[in-house]
Amino acid sequence: TALTDLLNSRIKDVPDYPKPGVMFKDIAPLLADAEAFGALTRALADRARELGATKVVGLEARGFVLAAPAAFAAGLGFVPIRKKGKLPGEVFEQSYDLEYGSATLEVQCDAFAPGERVLVVDDVLATGGTIAASLDLVQRTGAQLVGVVVLMELGFLDGRERLATHLGGAPLETL
Ligand code: IMP
Repeated sequence: TALTDLLNSRIKDVPDYPKPGVMFKDIAPLLADAEAFGALTRALADRARELGATKVVGLEARGFVLAAPAAFAAGLGFVPIRKKGKLPGEVFEQSYDLEYGSATLEVQCDAFAPGERVLVVDDVLATGGTIAASLDLVQRTGAQLVGVVVLMELGFLDGRERLATHLGGAPLETL
């Protein structure tokens, strides 16, 4: 589609970052381009409305940059899922494996009111570990997941297959 072509044209391939052999997808040029960033924000906001979301969740840190303006454009609130130790008060935490070691994500226990419908947004679906942990956190809050939307999906890493058991039937979409 025209949107996909516009977004693709503003994502930069950076070879050997952050280490040799890795092709990093840099979204900085997309964020810096008013037309592309605006189109991305509107597309995310449209999906939030179409899916009947009541909150848009962003994953630290680039997920914040996509989810927060989309929440605003859709007339919805924003909720952050953050790396361990950044959120005050009672939190749920979920650890997941990285290539070397592990990471832990947290959400505030009272982030959602009863009956809320959540759209989760991040920039890149790679192995799926980050989104899998985030979906487990949303589930523990008692909120209903209505969808996951990512800007891009690195299909060769099979993240989509890994997420299947965490989605509970909610759609996973790539812009
Ligand atoms: P995963 O947990 O392996 O799916 O990795 C996803 C997370 O790593 C996302 O939060 C991304 O921000 C980040 N990430 C992985 N690969 C890339 C990339 O090529 N460009 C930008 N971010 C990436």
